Amino acid sequence: MNLVFLGPPGSGKGTQAKKLAEKLGYVHLSTGDVLRKAVKDGTELGRKADGFMQAGELVPDELIIGMIEELVSAGALKNGFILDGFPRTIPQAESLDIMFEKYKIKLDKAVLLHVGDAEVTKRLLGRAEIEGRADDNAEVIKNRIEIYKKQTAPIEQFYRGQSILTEVKGEDTPENVFEALLKVAK
Ligand code: ADP
Repeated sequence: MNLVFLGPPGSGKGTQAKKLAEKLGYVHLSTGDVLRKAVKDGTELGRKADGFMQAGELVPDELIIGMIEELVSAGALKNGFILDGFPRTIPQAESLDIMFEKYKIKLDKAVLLHVGDAEVTKRLLGRAEIEGRADDNAEVIKNRIEIYKKQTAPIEQFYRGQSILTEVKGEDTPENVFEALLKVAK
């Protein structure tokens, strides 16, 4: 099964996607992880992306689409994958469709992990204290939630239009969310 994961920052999307991929033997490709590594390694991509990430802004489409194109053409998405954190804008979703067609990859489902604003804010503030991620302070968190609503949420409708959107309730214990995801992902 080939999946993209959607959900606001703090929805638990990344953690669940990673766990699910391990359990099902899928590839887990997280654009956030790839970008954070690029920043750490000081690559050209990392240098260009760093400021946007720290401000909680999206990295510009052309940069991120180029990055995904490189990964896909290098065979990073073997059959059975979870793409986590991409697409995040309508142009990214459209480019991904074109790439999938080119490389004969079938997208089976777009899985939306649903968590309300109050809960994601609470979770992100909690995580900020524990992990000290540079993009987890109150102001940046608010910005990331706004950006999700404006730029990423329209993708839900994009995939609903293709009849591949599946919604899973994310406001439950991590174990219950995992079980619910497992049912739709295998
Ligand atoms: P979260 O899911 O917690 O929002 P991620 O780890 O997925 O965070 O991404 C961290 C940051 O990396 C984002 O806030 C953004 O700056 C950048 N990023 C990741 N994926 C994309 C993308 N598809 N398009 C633009 N920016 C991205």
